[in-house]
Amino acid sequence: MIVRQKAFVFVVVLLEWTGQFVSASDWKYGNEGAWPELCQSGSRQSPIGLSPSIAMWKNFSRLIMEGYGQRTVAVMKNNGHSAEVRLKHVQNPKVHGGGLPGFYELDHLHFHWQSEHTVDDIRFPLELHLVHHIKGMEMTEAVEHPNGVAVFAVMLEISPDDEEDFEPLLDILDNLKDTVGEVRQLTDFSVKDFLPKDKAGFYRYEGSLTTPNCNEGVIWTVFTNTLRISRSQVKKFEQIKTTEKSPLTQNFRGIQPLNGRAVYLKRSPVMDSSARGVVPSAWLAVSLVYVGLRW
Ligand SMILES: [Zn+2]
Repeated sequence: MIVRQKAFVFVVVLLEWTGQFVSASDWKYGNEGAWPELCQSGSRQSPIGLSPSIAMWKNFSRLIMEGYGQRTVAVMKNNGHSAEVRLKHVQNPKVHGGGLPGFYELDHLHFHWQSEHTVDDIRFPLELHLVHHIKGMEMTEAVEHPNGVAVFAVMLEISPDDEEDFEPLLDILDNLKDTVGEVRQLTDFSVKDFLPKDKAGFYRYEGSLTTPNCNEGVIWTVFTNTLRISRSQVKKFEQIKTTEKSPLTQNFRGIQPLNGRAVYLKRSPVMDSSARGVVPSAWLAVSLVYVGLRW
């Protein structure tokens, strides 16, 4: 019995030494092999590689979004793994429709540099996540429920010039980049500035949180239209420091196996500026007419 206990203690010590035990707060990017059990063994994990070729077209109803355009105070925080933004003094923006299995409230926004999802194997320089919990449930409870969490993802492409909408946020980021837990206030913040104007086109699939504990049952909506940000603005995100005071040069999780999951794609009838492979039907028709006229 004593021998078995000693052996157990030895195994525990060895596992701790090799970093196999990771609590929800002290995980790191760069050693995903040491993330908690579900991150390794889960069958519906995120992110995944998206492409029109693996997706089934589906004509979801319109997303009905309320309160995303409110201009309000928000707080931004360096949480050691990202920069997160939470709205203050307002009712949380709400969304339903669009094939979502319920009513959801916005919990917070955060960023990944580079993108977590890829589209046609292309990794974008930045991906924004808008994390929602099902209405009437706290986030801590929602992550334990199937369909309890819905995340909207927005991809950002590089623009030659600095994008004005990001400037106030990046100024604040500069003040909190050096210390994990540091919080600063943003005034006149609107979530709408960080969403594509045309939100009709999106990928939809069932996945997980992309950070420990990698809880599954998360409904993903990845918009096909993108926003833009300059290279030098992306560089500012890369200067955020971790708890070890080293720069968080990248914070994206590797692509996870699809394991036979269904991926749906709703095409915007108006435009798909950068869906990477989804040809905008209206634009295609105009181009064909133009080609026809020329010839
Ligand atoms: Zn995220």
